[in-house]
Amino acid sequence: MKNVRSLAVIVVGLFYVQCLFAQKNPVTDKVNHLTYSKNELLGRIVPSPPLFSEIPMSCSSKSGMMLRVEVLNAFKELHQAAEEEDVRLTVMSGTRTFSHQKSIWERKWVRPKYMGWSDIEKARDILSYSSMPGSSRHHWGTDVDLNSLENEYFESGEGLKVYDFLERCASDFGFYQVYTEKNRDSNANTRSGYEEEKWHWSYLPIANEMLKQYNSTISNQDIDGFKGAVSADSLKIIVNYVNGIF
Ligand SMILES: [Zn+2]
Repeated sequence: MKNVRSLAVIVVGLFYVQCLFAQKNPVTDKVNHLTYSKNELLGRIVPSPPLFSEIPMSCSSKSGMMLRVEVLNAFKELHQAAEEEDVRLTVMSGTRTFSHQKSIWERKWVRPKYMGWSDIEKARDILSYSSMPGSSRHHWGTDVDLNSLENEYFESGEGLKVYDFLERCASDFGFYQVYTEKNRDSNANTRSGYEEEKWHWSYLPIANEMLKQYNSTISNQDIDGFKGAVSADSLKIIVNYVNGIF
C-alpha cells in the first residue's frame, strides 16, 4: 500500500513538472496555435475589439488606427524604450483592410502617368512600394509604418537617429524590418518584391505564423476584386511579393 502511494506521488510530481515546462512560454504557444481564417489573411475584416485595439494618439499620427492587441502591447514597450533615448516613434499606418488597400491601389492605378501602359507594367510599377489588395502584411494587424514613408528621412538627422534605434532595439520587442535593402549581400540573402522600406516594421512572433498560414491557405486566384487583379497570377504575387521578405 505504501509503495502504491509512493508511486502515485511520483506520477503526480512528474505530471506537475511536465506542466511547468509546457507552460514555459504560454503566450508564444497561444499565438502559434491560433488559426486565422481566409478573410483575416486577406484583410476582409473589420479590425475591432477584443482582437484589435486602437493605437493611442501618443504613438500615432491620426486617430482610429488599429493593431492586434499583442502587437500594440509590444509596440507600446518599444515606444517607451525609444522615449527613454529621446527617440520619438509615430505610427503612420497600422492595420489596413482589403477595402482600404483597394482604395490606395486603385488611386494609383488611374494615375495619368500610366496612360498607354499595359496592365502588367502598371501593376509592376505600383508594386515597387504598394501591395495588391489581399496581399498586404498590413491586413494582418502585425505591421506598422513609422515616422515617414520616405527612405531619405531615415538617412540623416532625426530620422537617422530613429533608424539607428530601430535597428539596434526593435527586435528586442519582436519588430523587424522585412523590406530590407535588396542585394544587401551579394552571395546570399537577396530577396524579391518590394523596394526597401525603412519605415515598415513587422511583429514577427505573430506575422511569421500568419505568413505560414497564408502560404498554405491562399492562392493567387484569391487575390481578386480590384482593378488589375488579373495580373496577380503572372506576377506570382505570393511567391515574389508576399514572400519577398528578408
Ligand atoms: Zn507598410
